[in-house]
Amino acid sequence: MAEKHITAVKGMNDLLPEATALWRPIEDKAKRTLSAFGFGEVRTPILEKTSLFVRGVGEGTDIVNKEMYTFEDGATEGKAGTLVSLRPEGTAPAVRAAIEHSQLTQGALVRWFYLGPMFRRERQQKGRYRQFFQVGAEIYGAAAPQADAELIDAAYSFLRQLDLGELTLEINSLGDAQCRPKYVEALIASLKSRAADLCPECQRRLETNPLRVLDCKSEACQRVTADTPTIDGFLCGGCQEHFRRVLELLDGLGIPYTVNPRIVRGLDYYTRTVFEFVSRETGEGGLGSQSTVCAGGRYDTLIGDLGGPATPAVGFAAGLDRLALLCARNAPASSGPDLAIVPLGDAAVMKALQLASSLRREGLWVDMDLRGSGLKSQMRRADKAGARCVLVLGDSELEQGTVSLKRMATGECVQTALEPDAIRQALQS
Ligand code: ATP
Ligand code: MG
Repeated sequence: MAEKHITAVKGMNDLLPEATALWRPIEDKAKRTLSAFGFGEVRTPILEKTSLFVRGVGEGTDIVNKEMYTFEDGATEGKAGTLVSLRPEGTAPAVRAAIEHSQLTQGALVRWFYLGPMFRRERQQKGRYRQFFQVGAEIYGAAAPQADAELIDAAYSFLRQLDLGELTLEINSLGDAQCRPKYVEALIASLKSRAADLCPECQRRLETNPLRVLDCKSEACQRVTADTPTIDGFLCGGCQEHFRRVLELLDGLGIPYTVNPRIVRGLDYYTRTVFEFVSRETGEGGLGSQSTVCAGGRYDTLIGDLGGPATPAVGFAAGLDRLALLCARNAPASSGPDLAIVPLGDAAVMKALQLASSLRREGLWVDMDLRGSGLKSQMRRADKAGARCVLVLGDSELEQGTVSLKRMATGECVQTALEPDAIRQALQS
């Protein structure tokens, strides 16, 4: 049956002004912080060839298996089109762009950040949507633990500016191509012996992406994995030393962390360091099992896998929707206009528009009713909007060239000349 009102696609949200007022400072803080660390902003297309994610994110991952919005583009009769997908994440596209624009020449060190919507067909819950926003940062060309530490410092510096409540950094090493396979083998053996206790999803993951079983949110699986072997005992010398040094640098930076050998991340491309910032807020204002607000790690093989020159890399992505949910817990009521102008009569409207235009060009928020309402109704509107000051403009004010500026908090009135400069000064004093 046809819908009476066409609604938004499930899991995709409208952000109305009240929400964007909350989001904007979060985005501004991310951009300012990342710029201070020298990350330059990249904006890549929202659509990419599906093959980029199949190769970049990995065939065995939930994202590629079942969460991507994919369609065939440009098919004509007798000729297949290209499979394209709405991007489910930002790392593979950024790497593609870096390779395509020859940014990864021998010895290059590149710091990039991105901010924008991502798309995954997931079951909608609080903090889990089908269109969601991430801000992410990537460092290409540095293999040293110093890069991991700096990247985590960038994420931490950003997050700590927000009112998120209790947040913990959990960190782990996933080893590399040398030592990880031995661990995965041991993990599979242990999980297989108790496969019947795993959720159906994880019974499948056991074949496709066994590490991800450690990350499953179902209680049954968590009981099983509580006593499976952890990776720390399997790390090779190089990975152990790298991890030790990362932790030492975090200590030096004063960034608190917990080593959690069960942190695995859902994407195939990670090597060595992986980390998550997890919210500990519980109850109404908390995020439930959507509590990871930022996640990342090292991916030393991805750039080579995507056809670029072998280049070590490390990155993170933070979920803005979840950050905004946490910030909304104690967000102060939004402030109102700096000034409401209340014109009475046509001549006053002309003067009021000129005055407002001039003050607005200076960046002041000036409100006016556009409906030709009377004095009382305009005053009510100014009050309701939370205007800091109100200025009534009628024939006598126009004649005398002076106005009375009323401060709404105190009721105090100041006389000033009917000139933008004088009014601005009165507003600021
Ligand atoms: P989760 O385990 O919660 O599914 P993930 O491992 O899939 O997370 P990443 O791909 O690492 O998450 O993405 C990094 C961050 O992006 C997450 O920590 C989260 O804050 C945010 N994020 C991921 N998926 C969603 C979603 N569907 N809706 C809202 N935010 C999301
Ligand atoms: Mg996920």
